[in-house]
Amino acid sequence: MSDNKVYKIDCHTHPLSHSYYPGYCTRKELTNSDKRNIETIIKQGIERKLDAIAITDHNICTSGIYGKEYVKENKLPIVVVPGCECSVFFDNTEIHILALGITKAFDLTKDDPISQVITSIHGASGIAILAHPHYYSDLYPKLIKYVDGFEYYNGVNAVIYPGNEYFTLFDADKEKCIKTWGSDYHMTNMLLEEQRKAVVKISKENAPALWNRIRLAAK
Ligand SMILES: [Zn+2]
Ligand SMILES: [Zn+2]
Repeated sequence: MSDNKVYKIDCHTHPLSHSYYPGYCTRKELTNSDKRNIETIIKQGIERKLDAIAITDHNICTSGIYGKEYVKENKLPIVVVPGCECSVFFDNTEIHILALGITKAFDLTKDDPISQVITSIHGASGIAILAHPHYYSDLYPKLIKYVDGFEYYNGVNAVIYPGNEYFTLFDADKEKCIKTWGSDYHMTNMLLEEQRKAVVKISKENAPALWNRIRLAAK
């Protein structure tokens, strides 16, 4: 990885979600079919000319960890950033937190308080990103205090809410340096045009924390 390069990364994908979503992934071990689905989303990332792709299935860490091993073993021209989309309840609302750049799996239960989930993410060397914050924009001022950054652009929600008026709210937040873009891609056989555009360009200067996680994942 070059220190001077700008990296294109999709920070939010779900290679396995068609097998459990809506709902939670309860299995810990990957099936052969799971592995093929992870490999497919990585190959699509190469076709999209991404430098890196985060794998962030719902409440399971092993798919991203497998993806990282797979690209290294096969010397593929892309970095997999292992992650997880963690569900937590906050003020009786289900909130999703993306863990990005984890170095080990951690356990999650639906009832974990947000502070504990953030501690688990940081304990696995990951960063914590508030996913699709406009779902819970009334809670955003409280939630943003817990996380390292937030998802500025979400490919699914760009389709559902094409106006994206919530950007005004997020642009006003100067405190958090990490603003991610992600496709939130749920089906291995269908990637919409808006989701293809959901890529964030990062460098060592403009997002050092995320850049460091990509560098770690490339090792
Ligand atoms: Zn989500
Ligand atoms: Zn998602």
